[in-house]
Amino acid sequence: GPRVGVLALQGDFREHARILGELGARVTLVRRPGDLEGIEGLVIPGGESSVMDKLARAFGLAEPLRERIRDGLHVYGTCAGLIMLADTLLDAIAGQESFGGLDVVVRRNAFGSQNQSFETDLEIPVLGERPLRAVFIRGPVVESVGPKATPIATLADGRVVAVEQGGLLGTSFHPEINGDTRFHEYFLSKLRSA
Ligand code: GLN
Repeated sequence: GPRVGVLALQGDFREHARILGELGARVTLVRRPGDLEGIEGLVIPGGESSVMDKLARAFGLAEPLRERIRDGLHVYGTCAGLIMLADTLLDAIAGQESFGGLDVVVRRNAFGSQNQSFETDLEIPVLGERPLRAVFIRGPVVESVGPKATPIATLADGRVVAVEQGGLLGTSFHPEINGDTRFHEYFLSKLRSA
């Protein structure tokens, strides 16, 4: 299987590593710049984007990762991971930076506090006909989609919660939580055919 890294600075990286391993990927936990060597794809988990940003910079990982993304590394960001992939952030903490790559504006904590977390069924044509049960935990929303990116899922009110741009994929929600592995499979299939 393809060599896939999971950014393991913070957040629920273990769950992603387990799923990717079960789907046949060779998984590397990424904590330092050297861990980026040889990976063909990367998953950035949910967690807290401001902390992920601080740790990535402290470990010297932010710049090398930006470079790999510019060079075409396939990256799937969920929730905080989507925030890390966005070119522009709204409601970020002072000085917070993203890695960027996705031509989108993303607003953090767009659905209110932790106890306003919710689940909903989403139609996601790239994953097939069966709707995906999406779990939102203090998730971000894609407030605007630039010309390079494509929305692939929207809520009933039209807000965009999943986007794709070449090898980059981002979701506001957590597909690793409820046992539906279609997003991970989709990410790996794009990687295999790249
Ligand atoms: N609110 C978090 C952030 O801003 C994201 C929450 C999550 O990843 N579940 O990074």
